[in-house]
Amino acid sequence: AHPVYAAMGETIFEAMSALCRDGSRVNLGQGFPDDNGPPELRDAAARALASRSNQYPPMAGVPELRDAVAAFYRRTQGLDLTRDGVIVTSGATEALTAAILSVVAPGDEVLVFAPSYDLYAPMVRRAGGTPVFVALTPPAWRYDRAAIAAAITPRTTAIIVNDPLNPTGSVASAAELADLAALCSDHDLVAICDEVWEGVRFDGVPHRSLLSLPGMAERTIKIGSAGKLFGLTGWKIGWLCAAPAMARLVARAHQFLTFTTMPATQYAVAEGLARDDVLARQHAGWARTREALLRLLADAGFAVLPAPATWFACIDLAASGIALDDAEFSRRAVHEGGVATIPLSAFVEDGAPTGVVRLCHCKDEAVLAEGVRRLAVFR
Ligand code: PMP
Ligand code: GLN
Repeated sequence: AHPVYAAMGETIFEAMSALCRDGSRVNLGQGFPDDNGPPELRDAAARALASRSNQYPPMAGVPELRDAVAAFYRRTQGLDLTRDGVIVTSGATEALTAAILSVVAPGDEVLVFAPSYDLYAPMVRRAGGTPVFVALTPPAWRYDRAAIAAAITPRTTAIIVNDPLNPTGSVASAAELADLAALCSDHDLVAICDEVWEGVRFDGVPHRSLLSLPGMAERTIKIGSAGKLFGLTGWKIGWLCAAPAMARLVARAHQFLTFTTMPATQYAVAEGLARDDVLARQHAGWARTREALLRLLADAGFAVLPAPATWFACIDLAASGIALDDAEFSRRAVHEGGVATIPLSAFVEDGAPTGVVRLCHCKDEAVLAEGVRRLAVFR
């Protein structure tokens, strides 16, 4: 076995969801809505499945979806993008893997923030690189320019930025993004920007893509996911956007990971990206579930950290009067309380306790209420 995988456990998302699949536990762990996704997109996929080609689509994605992604970002984020800069992938997961495999060479150092999504560091290692961690600290999880600069060496070739950030639900400010862009330009770094949560922001917080900042167009790989924009996580339709030469490079990895992805869902997502009404309805639903979870947690006496984005809320255990570390809390919550959560220590390399536990809010209010009721016994 390859040592990176031989040393690795199963991802926490699968471990927690597996414990919930028999219906005996409330699943506030892995991030996915408990509804079935927008009917408009499911109908569009059914139509495409019945009437359009079900054979291999073009390797870079169906032209309709590549055009729709470019048009969506021109319209919503002011990006200067056309079809040539878009590659469709099987979820953001594949886009991230393709980006890392195509950009990271053996011996390279790659800056990764802690906490961050559990794919980044192992895939950097599998590509022969070394992840170099820069810590973000609660409650605001701010990017500190001096700390990042101090982690850069002559071997640093790339940085992985996840904005908005899973698991914290935090969003980088304009000043922080400007600092990140300046560091990338000054040190000639490629930025792999995981922006899958770009559409799931609340309280009027804007999304700014690092790709749009001065000097970043030629050095940024921006990654998105229909799973998060529409609440269709099982479809695994994602994409990456980059300058055409960079996109072609990443496509060299994509062609040998999956080559392409199911055409019917690609056509449906292409239709969906033009539907501001559908996007707005999904967003409004998540604004309601977020309010509901925050209210339930406050009523039960839990202290939460500010999280202006994502499907997640983070409990500060100590401030909630709970004297357990996060992994122990999540373990007891799932086995004794019957509710799955995600400890933030799952997003740090050494698994060191963080004192913070992540809950997913995009569920029926009755499900949220039952989950919080079961968690409240630990206070
Ligand atoms: N990156 C981040 C930060 C995520 O939160 C997720 C999904 N939870 C992904 C990537 C993977 O996205 P997809 O399901 O489209 O593969
Ligand atoms: N992004 C999802 C989360 O953070 C999980 C995705 C996965 O299961 N790989 O919960």
